[in-house]
Amino acid sequence: MPSIHDLAAIELVRRRLKFDRYRLRQVRNAFYKKYLPAAVALEEIAEPHRTALAAEVEFHALTLESRHDSRIDGATKLIFRTSAGLLIESVILRLTTGRTTLCVSTQVGCAAHCDFCATGKMGIARNLSAAEIVDQLVQANQLLAAESRSVRNLVFMGMGEPFHNEEQLEASIQLLIDPACFHLNPRRLLISTVGIPEAMTRMAQRHPQVRLALSLHSARQDVRRQIMPIAERYPLEVLRQALVEVFALQGHEVMIEYLLLADVNDQSDDAAALIDYVRDIPVHINLIPYNPIAEAPHLRGSDRPRREAFSAQLKAAGLAVTTRYSLGADIAAACGQLVRQEHRKNAGAARVVTLKSNPPANVS
Ligand code: SAH
Repeated sequence: MPSIHDLAAIELVRRRLKFDRYRLRQVRNAFYKKYLPAAVALEEIAEPHRTALAAEVEFHALTLESRHDSRIDGATKLIFRTSAGLLIESVILRLTTGRTTLCVSTQVGCAAHCDFCATGKMGIARNLSAAEIVDQLVQANQLLAAESRSVRNLVFMGMGEPFHNEEQLEASIQLLIDPACFHLNPRRLLISTVGIPEAMTRMAQRHPQVRLALSLHSARQDVRRQIMPIAERYPLEVLRQALVEVFALQGHEVMIEYLLLADVNDQSDDAAALIDYVRDIPVHINLIPYNPIAEAPHLRGSDRPRREAFSAQLKAAGLAVTTRYSLGADIAAACGQLVRQEHRKNAGAARVVTLKSNPPANVS
């Protein structure tokens, strides 16, 4: 069954059913731009075409499994089920500025195995399709419509490594910026990566306006390799060259994410290494307090005085620094905690077995 996002295929259906092109555009506008449920959007077409189109087009690639609203802040976790029965998660972040950000997943699990990340501990990666990536936005917006809100910024910071699923990531971005689909401003998209140099450069070439965030977490090769196995393959110097290229192509600052782990990467020497690493590259540094995960009992977040000292050292060197506090800690929506709990609850269930028996798909 063709997806609503497949313009060419839908056009063939329209011609076969013989209804006005304008009507199809109305349905798509209602669905993409007014965030109306498919059934309501379809009311733009009269019968019998309405029922015929509804039977022939897939509007949703995911099923909403559950919704969890934080009691302490404006976060909502949405758990979705893919057609293969796997669970993924998106997080709605209602910011105090009144704006709304959606954090989307690009994979089920992740092959990067970062030591501090719960998704990485799932130890498996399955790519999501572009339709599954964008359906997280469609369904979040449909829920938010009841609050007269809509997603302003989309961050690819949920489960998975976006650049391990580069093809579907690119296809999803095409849909997101396409005037005939979501028509989002590319500046409102932010892709967070463990640091795959050539994919970062390709993204900057194709989409100079799309924001990139690099999860650096240490500017010392030995330390980074210890907490992020991917650093073995892409050493810091190679990554630095990619940052230089990305800036040359995009002309706007790159975001550097830096998780503060006690006695691992939070000392004065570590700050000095970071300052040296980003010299002459316009960056914005986001310091992230660590959200403890059960799978990494050996890791502790830096305490507040250390975080403040680290931040002060960077600022004294003239760097732009923000400390980013995670929302949704009570609903396990904070970074690193996504879905893992749900999978654990379901341990032994058929879908978990399926998950484990499949090799990582398309992981470079
Ligand atoms: N794979 C991508 C995007 C997903 S992770 C990436 O690594 O960037 C999104 C962010 O959350 C990354 O910066 C990641 O390092 C961070 N993160 C992972 N586990 C965390 C934890 N336990 N506490 C705080 N941040 C975490």
